Amino acid sequence: MVFESLSEKLQNALGKLKSKGKLSEKDVDVAMREVRLALLEADVNFTVVKDFIKKVKERAIGNEVMKSLTPGQQVIKIVNDELTSLMGRTEVKINFSSTPPTVILMSGLQGAGKTTTTGKLANNFKKQGKRPLLVACDVYRPAAIKQLEVVGERVGVPVFSMGNKHNPVDIAKAAMEHAKKHANDVVIIDTAGRLHIDEELMDEIENIHKAVNPDEILLVLDAMTGQDAVNVAKSFDERLSITGVILTKLDGDARGGAALSIRAVTDKPIKFVGMGEKLDELEPFHPDRMASRILGMGDVLSFIEKAQANIDADKAMELEKKIRTSQFTFEDFLDQLEQMKNLGPLDQILGMIPGMNAKALKGLDVNEKDIGRIEAIIKSMTKKERQTPEIIDSSRRKRIASGSGTTIPEVNKLLKQFKETKKMMKKFTEMEKTMKKKGKFG
Ligand code: GDP
Repeated sequence: MVFESLSEKLQNALGKLKSKGKLSEKDVDVAMREVRLALLEADVNFTVVKDFIKKVKERAIGNEVMKSLTPGQQVIKIVNDELTSLMGRTEVKINFSSTPPTVILMSGLQGAGKTTTTGKLANNFKKQGKRPLLVACDVYRPAAIKQLEVVGERVGVPVFSMGNKHNPVDIAKAAMEHAKKHANDVVIIDTAGRLHIDEELMDEIENIHKAVNPDEILLVLDAMTGQDAVNVAKSFDERLSITGVILTKLDGDARGGAALSIRAVTDKPIKFVGMGEKLDELEPFHPDRMASRILGMGDVLSFIEKAQANIDADKAMELEKKIRTSQFTFEDFLDQLEQMKNLGPLDQILGMIPGMNAKALKGLDVNEKDIGRIEAIIKSMTKKERQTPEIIDSSRRKRIASGSGTTIPEVNKLLKQFKETKKMMKKFTEMEKTMKKKGKFG
């Protein structure tokens, strides 16, 4: 889950306010002390924390809040609002040029995830119907060119490379000609990464910049490096005037400091976040949704978007029909599991649902392994068994358990759960019908 520890601590501090009918200034003070500590422990920039707490306190101790019927809720709303504002309020999209190709210069330190992210961006643009071209300008490490080529191949996007015998400025210029000739409407230039910021590196990117006049200079930063990432952002921005940041590795145990400080420190937006190593694990950054996620209020919009992109609409319709007519079988169930897996790691998905806060997630015993076992059980059933589970007697149960490498009690449990789910679906459908008759529904 994103920023798990920060999320848990903030929810703890604010949860105490929620249960109080009336708030005193002291209550707010105590809660804010905890919030301050949580933010500092998450490695949020010290000045940013100070300003943040000051703003929240000023608003929270105002008369309307303290006198309102739900002061605790109001304070949480203020924290949510100020967190959102800290991260820049709304999504800032890629600035596509009105005269293609749009040119994007990728920069960042080695290991931040620049090459991977370059591939993810190309993948994302391709899905939007664009024709991206990747350009290999990291001529110092032969492995870097190869890596970009591999990434390009995986997402089905061409890579322009001239090996490592030419200088990056010439390569970038030649790539622009190539893009124009081949109608590529987005050119993404992968530049050299270094272990540390050095003058040579900056000079080089600056020279490429002069040669191709990019629409975007994106800086890729590793969220796990906390305040170091913020310092890198500051240095790059001072020298190159970046147009945005892509923060990677938010799926790991990053503490949150970078995400919460970058905008305030550099005034440059985070445009995307990396949520995993796979090339489709890049999400647009929505400050409001991120704030809600951190506060355990869920991120329903991102969840729906993810579902829409990954779930087959026709299949969903068909499934709904089956549920309504009680024809739902184990085969449909298996299908559902497959689709759910397409959405990504389970804890990330659940973390987007309101109420699934850090605590709830810990208490909930769902994991990928359980789902794998359920899948194995269903896959060990014959087609007929999947369609009419009633025929699964004890000898069949024994066979299914040994075929799937599970136990008979596990098979029993799944069969029982399935039966109950079906019963519940039937009840719901009947209830809906009655309501409709009475004119109360739909
Ligand atoms: P570069 O040196 O900046 O080009 O970095 P790479 O693209 O080679 O990435 C360095 C490592 O970070 C690789 O192992 C990537 O798979 C990994 N990585 C990149 N982005 C993410 C992300 O969003 N999440 C996770 N978990 N790993 C990532």
